[in-house]
Amino acid sequence: MKYITESLYPTWGQTLEQDEVLFEHHTKHQHLVIFKNQQWGTVMMLDGVVQTTEKDEFIYHEMMTHVPMFAHHNPKRVLIIGGGDGGILREALKHPNVEQVVQVEIDQAVIDMCCKYLPNHSAGAFDDPRVQVVIDDGVNYVNQTSELFDVIISDSTDPIGPGESLFTSVFYVGIKKCLGDGGVFVAQNGVCFMQMDEVVTTHQRLQPLFEEVTFFSAAVPTYVGGIMTFAWASQSTDLSHVELEALNKRYEQSKISTRYYHPKIHSASFTLPKYVSDALEQSHA
Ligand code: SAM
Repeated sequence: MKYITESLYPTWGQTLEQDEVLFEHHTKHQHLVIFKNQQWGTVMMLDGVVQTTEKDEFIYHEMMTHVPMFAHHNPKRVLIIGGGDGGILREALKHPNVEQVVQVEIDQAVIDMCCKYLPNHSAGAFDDPRVQVVIDDGVNYVNQTSELFDVIISDSTDPIGPGESLFTSVFYVGIKKCLGDGGVFVAQNGVCFMQMDEVVTTHQRLQPLFEEVTFFSAAVPTYVGGIMTFAWASQSTDLSHVELEALNKRYEQSKISTRYYHPKIHSASFTLPKYVSDALEQSHA
């Protein structure tokens, strides 16, 4: 039997049994492998790091999409950076008021292979007439486009390899430029217990550009090491604490069915452990 151990941390990592390798290839940008595992179903890894699994993808994709989308009063135009497996796109399109989603993914192979081997992630979302897919580095797109968006979601890999550019100030300046009035930017920002430097650095880079910078979290089983933090940035200072009553109303009106997200966990997700809030405060000391 073949096994693969994650390479994210030099002295510690999860090992998965590869019951059947469905696809493995060095694309133009990264090493891509998709395989079956008894516990997690079909798994996709990029450059030796688990990106998504059939079994727990709903947690990450629901929280990363519905927290900003329900916090915004009426998201019509959405920008997704990365997200080649299509899970974020699938969830974003469930919002009835969404008129257009632009997805900027650097690696066409990820889209193609996830549509083939993880079809339930996108569930046909890439064929939705509201979707425009751009194959490019997200940092190029946000700095060149004149489009404005209500919600921007950066569903990137970790800041190694192609994902590195999506954690830079150059990228965040581009985000500021294409975020419309009352807009919200969220980004995958690592497992804070293991990647606290990423949380602190993102906070330091976003703060000079946005009126409100904070984080929310969710525990995603295959992003090992504890809760995953999501960066949040907006020029509006009230969108990270929308009243529960308003969230309930928007959630019910949307008729979106979820398995992890609900308004109470949305509100609670902005409550961070003390070691995280302390680290953010110390970073300004
Ligand atoms: N949920 C995963 C996580 O939290 O690690 C991320 C999943 S998604 C598959 C990550 C996507 O980001 C991949 O499709 C990858 O090709 C894409 N990506 C990496 N760097 C990028 C860049 N600079 N511009 C656009 N897409 C990028």
